[in-house]
Amino acid sequence: MVMPDDLTPVHQQMGMLDWDIKYKSTRSKEIHGEVEAEPEYERVTVYIHPESDAPIGTIIHELLHGLLWEFSALANMLADTDAELECLRVAEERFVNHIEQMPVWNKLKELYGE
Ligand SMILES: [Zn+2]
Repeated sequence: MVMPDDLTPVHQQMGMLDWDIKYKSTRSKEIHGEVEAEPEYERVTVYIHPESDAPIGTIIHELLHGLLWEFSALANMLADTDAELECLRVAEERFVNHIEQMPVWNKLKELYGE
């Protein structure tokens, strides 16, 4: 994995310096990244593909999912059908992708050579 040693600038930019953030390798080779979060304890585990050549973009993406975790869990709990769950999943993914692509992250990605 081409993981930077110090991700403090990423955590600072995302307003997550106080969070307990752990990084592990993905369990599946086909997934770029995954996240598990306990926002009530400001705790998140990010899983990154071991051969990722752009981990910062993936980390930003997964941390955004971590910040949305509670909202997403509540929305999923209120959904009645698989179609509604799929709509929620697609909407969250579209939102996270949009935020991840914002120019505000460019300097941060440049800092890490992405
Ligand atoms: Zn995603």
